[in-house]
Amino acid sequence: MQEKSEVVCEVCKLQLDKIAEARHLTELELKVLNQPKRVININIPIIMDDGSTRIFPAYRVQYNDARGPTKGGIRFHPKVNKKEINELAFLMSLKCALVDIPLSGGKGGVQVNPRELSEGELQRLSRAYIREFAPFIGPDRDIPAPDVNTNPKVMGWMLDEYEKITGKKAPGVITGKPLTIGGSRGRLYSTSLGGAIILGEYMKSAGKGGKGTTVAIQGFGNVGSHLARILDEWGYKIVAVSDSKGGIYNKSGLDVKKLVKENDGKNVQEIGGGEKISNEELLELGVDVVVPAAIENVINIKNMKNIRAKIVLEMANGPVTTGADDYLEEKGVVVLPDILANSGGVVVSYLEWVQNQCNYYWKEDEVNRKLEEYMGHAFAETEKVRAEAKGSYRRAAYIVAIKRILKAEEDRGIIVKKKA
Ligand code: NAD
Repeated sequence: MQEKSEVVCEVCKLQLDKIAEARHLTELELKVLNQPKRVININIPIIMDDGSTRIFPAYRVQYNDARGPTKGGIRFHPKVNKKEINELAFLMSLKCALVDIPLSGGKGGVQVNPRELSEGELQRLSRAYIREFAPFIGPDRDIPAPDVNTNPKVMGWMLDEYEKITGKKAPGVITGKPLTIGGSRGRLYSTSLGGAIILGEYMKSAGKGGKGTTVAIQGFGNVGSHLARILDEWGYKIVAVSDSKGGIYNKSGLDVKKLVKENDGKNVQEIGGGEKISNEELLELGVDVVVPAAIENVINIKNMKNIRAKIVLEMANGPVTTGADDYLEEKGVVVLPDILANSGGVVVSYLEWVQNQCNYYWKEDEVNRKLEEYMGHAFAETEKVRAEAKGSYRRAAYIVAIKRILKAEEDRGIIVKKKA
């Protein structure tokens, strides 16, 4: 009997099991995919401003390094735990393989509420993370980046600490840095541009144009706001956006430029320009494209029957639950999956690392042109497999990524194929 997947993420597990069954993956192949190669857990003590000591659990997972150094963000969040970091590292492995960059998946995190820390405490924690994990990371080994509640400023502190420890400049040890210390042009909006390219490629393949296509976006943070700006510039009609406080809807199209300009400090309902709606209502609007770009599990068995959009562009990680994913597939709703739609960020992270390793920096246009090539190629490969296998884009994207990881393991002699 085929061994079942043990991967913790429900959607990943289901896809892996279906692929394992259809493609007759061996037990060894499934084991390679199921298990992280290295999980490091360190409890980091920090002297707080008031003189007390607090201990923060911190993690780094290097999921699979067959295709190159591991890569993945570091999140600071009170709910961070080993299971979550493991699952995100697995998704990073798939993303890196799907967009065909010579990197593998990793992830890190600290269980902390950064809002409870002073700026000094936050900097001490960020530097301590790097001191503790320095033996395991490096430009040719494992390359962290920002994630939830970490940003270019934190990456700057972390880079500085790493260079102090090693005694030499090593900008390629971390990506998502400020431009002044080796960041890449275009990185700030690369996830959004990548998603817009994937949507554009899908529209082209379906014989449709983007102009006038109606779009509702949940989440108006880094990803959602840049995506709204780009799609608006490309002629799509953004009719609804939201943030954690609620959303706005205008069937004639929102004034995206105004929303983007005034986004700093105000929520979208305060900026206005449309009728107030809830986040739940936004997802159920009769639009062409709905974009969850905030948090996970927002389309689930409770609301799946009310989804009227024909296309779901998954910019958040895991916004559609397993049951809802199956239902939408059966109903013929096209779900452009997270590992494809939001992988623009890791592509430009890779391009940042390449620039660091060469100490030669590209103009914004050049970075964006390269991003377009990687995303276009990833879509084309996924589309080819989807057309052959007649399944969803998610299944096809998983197949492309898994095949590449397993082939790398085979070429390293870890997986030995038996002769027929
Ligand atoms: P962000 O923190 O900048 O923005 C998040 C937005 O979602 C904010 O507008 C916030 O108000 C809103 N939000 C929070 N809780 C909400 C809720 N319950 N309902 C509706 N809206 C809510 O984050 P981001 O960088 O824009 O990331 C958004 C999503 O995209 C996350 O799932 C993240 O994991 C994923 N993602 C981000 C990147 C990246 O490069 N930033 C890359 C890949 C995936």
